[in-house]
This record gives sequence, structure tokens and C-alpha cells, in this order.
Amino acid sequence: MSEINRERMSLMVECEDCKQKFEITSGEAVHSVTHKKEFNVNGQSIFLTYYDCPSCGRRHYVQIDDKTSLNKLREVSQQFVKLSVAKKKGKEIPQKQSAKFKKARQHLSDYRMNLMKQYTGKLIHDNETDSDFVLRFSV
Ligand SMILES: [Zn+2]
Repeated sequence: MSEINRERMSLMVECEDCKQKFEITSGEAVHSVTHKKEFNVNGQSIFLTYYDCPSCGRRHYVQIDDKTSLNKLREVSQQFVKLSVAKKKGKEIPQKQSAKFKKARQHLSDYRMNLMKQYTGKLIHDNETDSDFVLRFSV
């Protein structure tokens, strides 16, 4: 597991239905309330990140990935770890390397943004509850 996943980020959010305010944490932390789940849409695997309201249970989808973006994410994470290690050792980060990292991170974010547009409004089947729902993002 890379360092970027161990980093805990927390964020105050408000439920879209009952307006309850609560804190969400992302990453692989034990108390993390965001989950990632695989869905199948027209034979394509997508991974949706979501959290549930602790008060009313309303599900909020906040991120989408597919195999391509997960690969990109892995690359960006590896670069991030490399740069952090170099920084900790007091090494100067070459401009070129730092620019390469920023570019990769931007690509990932653009790619996810497009996925979001592409899948918004699509009917998704949830195997767990055996029901369909229309995908909408809470961001
Ligand atoms: Zn709620």
C-alpha cells in the first residue's frame, strides 16, 4: 500500500436529504466512512466511491473510477511517494520530475471528470440489493 493511501483526509459534509452535518474521512483508515464498490455497466467495470449519511442512510456518490483511472492513480501515487521520500531526504526535486507529477495528476483528474459526465444519469444495477438506481454525484 502506498503512502498516499495511508494519509487521512477528513472533510465536513452535509446530507442532501436531511441536512445532517457529519465528517467523512477518506483513505484506508479504520474509521474511514467512504467505501469503494465495483459495479458493472454494459459489461464495463466501474468503481464508485460513496458514503452514507449516518442519520438517514442516504447514499452519496462522490467519485468514479474505471480500470484506466485506477492505473493512472497507481502511477500518480508511486510518483507522489518518490517525490515525498526525496523531499524528506532534503533532496532538490528536479523541475522536470515535479512537472511530470503535476501533469499526471491533472490527467487523472480530467479523466475522472469525463467519466463522471459519461456515467451521470446512467442506470446502474446494484447486485447487493438487486435493484437499479440512476447514478448522480454529490460533488
Ligand atoms: Zn441524511
